[in-house]
Amino acid sequence: MALMIIETCTACDACEPVCPNKAISVGNPIYVIDPMKCTECVGAEDEPQCKLVCPAACIVPNPDWEEDKDTLMEKYQQLHT
Ligand code: SF4
Ligand code: SF4
Repeated sequence: MALMIIETCTACDACEPVCPNKAISVGNPIYVIDPMKCTECVGAEDEPQCKLVCPAACIVPNPDWEEDKDTLMEKYQQLHT
């Protein structure tokens, strides 16, 4: 399941550099996660790095992107081939 950023984002820029998939971009007014690229950090890290660094606790599961771990791993491998 990809993650998404909700409206309490303060656009602090902490999350964008830590994403292993370059899935986070500057939006207007809040930052945005591309669900086609977010793997919940599966393939790269033990846990979602953006959530770890976000001071606003505004990164949550995206209910429109149900994916199991195997699918997330395939997505990661496709992004990095
Ligand atoms: Fe990027 Fe990982 Fe956050 Fe997804 S969970 S947006 S892959 S840092
Ligand atoms: Fe927004 Fe959190 Fe990313 Fe900062 S770390 S830009 S508050 S989602």
